[in-house]
Amino acid sequence: MAYRITDACIACGACAAECPMEAIAEGDGKFEIDPEKCVGCGACAGVCPVGAPEEA
Ligand code: SF4
Ligand code: SF4
Repeated sequence: MAYRITDACIACGACAAECPMEAIAEGDGKFEIDPEKCVGCGACAGVCPVGAPEEA
């Protein structure tokens, strides 16, 4: 199950640095997850200070 990043994202970039699949990139005002690359490991959710990544 892929994760998605909600509008709670403050664009700190912590999740992108942790993602083992390099599935996260900066988008328009927040970071975004490429569902084709995400393997659902949850590492992004573990480091996010505002709980923005959630299971889609
Ligand atoms: Fe990357 Fe894992 Fe988050 Fe998917 S769940 S975006 S693979 S860190
Ligand atoms: Fe956004 Fe959280 Fe990722 Fe920071 S760690 S860029 S707040 S989703």
